[in-house]
Amino acid sequence: METIPVLFTKKEDCCGCGACLNVCPRQAIAMKEDEYGYLYPEIDEEKCVRCGQCKKVCAFQKREETNVPLDCYAAVNANVEQVSKSASAGIFAAIAEKVICDGGIVYGVAFTRNWGVHHVAIDNLEDLAKLQGSKYAHSNIERTYSEAKNELQTGRRVLFSGTPCQIAGLREFLGKEYENLVTVDIVCHGVPSVRMLQDYLKTIEDKHRGKITEFIFRDKSIGWGKNGSAVINGKKIKIWQSASSYLYYFTKGWLYRENCYRCPYACEHRPADITLGDYWGIEKQHPELLGKGRWDESKGISCVIINTKKVNHLLRT
Ligand SMILES: Cc1cc2nc3c(=O)[nH]c(=O)nc-3n(C[C@H](O)[C@H](O)[C@H](O)COP(=O)(O)OP(=O)(O)OC[C@H]3O[C@@H](n4cnc5c(N)ncnc54)[C@H](O)[C@@H]3O)c2cc1C
Ligand code: SF4
Ligand code: SF4
Ligand code: SF4
Repeated sequence: METIPVLFTKKEDCCGCGACLNVCPRQAIAMKEDEYGYLYPEIDEEKCVRCGQCKKVCAFQKREETNVPLDCYAAVNANVEQVSKSASAGIFAAIAEKVICDGGIVYGVAFTRNWGVHHVAIDNLEDLAKLQGSKYAHSNIERTYSEAKNELQTGRRVLFSGTPCQIAGLREFLGKEYENLVTVDIVCHGVPSVRMLQDYLKTIEDKHRGKITEFIFRDKSIGWGKNGSAVINGKKIKIWQSASSYLYYFTKGWLYRENCYRCPYACEHRPADITLGDYWGIEKQHPELLGKGRWDESKGISCVIINTKKVNHLLRT
C-alpha cells in the first residue's frame, strides 16, 4: 500500500474504539479530540509505513453479525454492598470477583484524574469499586487491547468489559477466540464526550465554590435511578436526574458521538459473551419476584443476557 489509509470519511463511521491505534506496529496513530471533545484516530504520516493493518482491523465499519442471545435472566448480586456501589444490581462485580479470585485480570472503566474516563486493568478486590457504577461518557481504551492480548497469551484468565462497539473492536483486534477470555458488554444507547462531562462537573464546582472529590451517576441512597451525587467541600449534594442538564440531554439522546445514532449493536446481535442492562419494568413482567423477603426494585435489578456457551462455568459458581 503506497498511500496512507483513510480511517474514516464520515464521523458516523468511527466509534473511537482505538483498535487501529492498538494494532499499528509503528505507534503511528494517536487519538485526538475534535471541537466537541470526541476522540478520533489520527495517523502520523512520518511514522506510518503504509501496511494497512489499521484499516483492516476496523470492526465498526465491517459490521459483521455476532452472537445472538441464548438465555436471559433477571438477577441481583447477593452481596448488598456490591449492589449499592453499582448502577444496576452488581452483576459485573460478581463476575469480576470470581475472575480475580481465580487469579485473573479485569478490564473495565474507571474515573481517572480530573474526571477523565478510561479503561484500566485491576487484579485485586480492593480496586474493584473503581470499575463499579456506570460512567456515562466515552471511555478511552488507550492500549488496553494490546495489554489484554499479552495477558491472554500467557494463559491468564481475562475479563474485558465495555460498550458493544468496544468489545467488537477488541475481538477484531485479537483476531481469534481465546478460551481464557470472557467479555461483557452493556445495553448502551450512546456516549457523550468526556469533555462535556468535565465541563458539566465544572459548572457544579463553580456553583458550590469547591472541588468535587466524589461523583456518582447513580446514588441509591433514596432509590434506584432517581439521582446522582457529588461530594464538594466534604458535603454531599444530590444531583437530580430531571434538574441536571447533562443527565437530561444524555437521557434524551442529544449528546452522543455521531456514530451512536447509527449504532449497529442496538439489536439482538451482541459482540460479548454476556450483556448487562437495567431491568426496568420488572414490576410489570415479574411482580412475583418482588416484595417482602424477595428482591427490592429500589436497590436495582439487572437484566443478564447470555450470548455464548463459553460462560456456563461462571453461571454455575
Ligand atoms: C454509557 C452507558 C449507557 C448505558 N445505557 C443503558 C441503557 O440505555 N439501558 C440499560 O438497561 N442499561 C444501560 N447501561 C448499563 C447499566 O447502566 C449498567 O452499567 C449495567 O446494567 C451493569 O450494571 P452492574 O450493576 O452489573 O454493574 P456496574 O457496576 O453498574 O457497571 C460496571 C460495568 O460498566 C462498565 N462501564 C461503566 N462505564 C462505562 C463506560 N463509560 N463505557 C463502557 N463501559 C462502562 C464497567 O466497565 C463495568 O463493566 C449503560 C451503561 C453505560 C456506561
Ligand atoms: S478501528 Fe475504531 S477508532 Fe479506528 S477507525 Fe475504526 S472505529 Fe475508529
Ligand atoms: S498503515 Fe500501518 S503503519 Fe500506517 S498507521 Fe496504519 S497500521 Fe500504522
Ligand atoms: S451506542 Fe453503539 S456505537 Fe455508541 S457507544 Fe454504544 S455501542 Fe458504541
